[in-house]
Amino acid sequence: MAQNLKKKTEPASREQRLEAYRPLSGMVVPRFAGISTFMRLPYLAPNQAPGEIDIAILGIPFDGATTNRPGTRLGPRQVREASSLMRLVNYGTLVAPYDLCACADVGDVPVNPIDVQDTLRRIEAEVSYLHQGGVTPLSIGGDHIVSYPILRALAAKSGPVGMIHVDAHSDTGDTFFGGQKLTHGTPFRRAIEDGVLDPKRMVQIGIRGHMYAADDREWALDQGIRIIDMDEVVEKGIPYAIAEARRIVGMDATYFTFDIDSIDPAFAPGTGTPEIGGFTSREALQLVRGFRHLNLIGADMVEVSPPLDQSGGTALVGASIAFELLCLLAEARAERASKETRLNVV
Ligand code: MN
Ligand code: MN
Repeated sequence: MAQNLKKKTEPASREQRLEAYRPLSGMVVPRFAGISTFMRLPYLAPNQAPGEIDIAILGIPFDGATTNRPGTRLGPRQVREASSLMRLVNYGTLVAPYDLCACADVGDVPVNPIDVQDTLRRIEAEVSYLHQGGVTPLSIGGDHIVSYPILRALAAKSGPVGMIHVDAHSDTGDTFFGGQKLTHGTPFRRAIEDGVLDPKRMVQIGIRGHMYAADDREWALDQGIRIIDMDEVVEKGIPYAIAEARRIVGMDATYFTFDIDSIDPAFAPGTGTPEIGGFTSREALQLVRGFRHLNLIGADMVEVSPPLDQSGGTALVGASIAFELLCLLAEARAERASKETRLNVV
């Protein structure tokens, strides 16, 4: 009844928000039941998010910039389903993200499946709205082009950002198919050209496979991007890759983008451009957990393609990585908040 929809008069306290915006308890409603949202979180319309939640998980169901095998438009739904298996506390780090931050699923960005530029505008508008409103975005793709408008949205307020980029591919190509500049193989060249991504504070981890030409890496290296390719990871080890990446991004504002094809197709075959010789899912956990206590202002997990994911296992890997990213974001945000409180007290 409309008359029962009373307008809130007082803003909720932090404790009330943490209580309200956390996953449905699997001890009360079993995890196979209920409406499928990311991590079994409450759904909240994006325009309600500022002032209400700290972290928004959003789906970006777009694969219109995919150059080869599509299907990632169906990724958010499948990852929502798989994410019902996630629980509340990270066994590896003991981080409990929902005790630190009020979180909600804000649904999917209303993409335009037949227009790349219009879709990028829509993504940028929504992420801008969230970021300007003080809400940290964790996005579930979609193909990798979705990171480009997100970086534009974040940089508009925070200035050029650094980035940790875990991927089999550099995604710094120029054009495809005779001049097409907006593809999932080009987002980071576009972001660097726009001045929203700082290549000197950008590190790519896990690059391997094949290139279109022998000098495909040159542009990225010329910009000053640090590429820790898979051969270097294997030679020097994951702790080295973590330490080196932390040195590159430092403590300024940093974005984290995770392409599921960084993981070996033995563990995550459901993606458009798989490359053998990648991370095991165990190594991916170790790698991501190495990036605690950085100044992370957003993250995404992209390129899960359900039509290519016959077992559903890739969506599970994607949901699990998304939970790890959520733990990083929640802890980083809580650390920023406590630093601000301390500064205010002093
Ligand atoms: Mn990629
Ligand atoms: Mn890739």
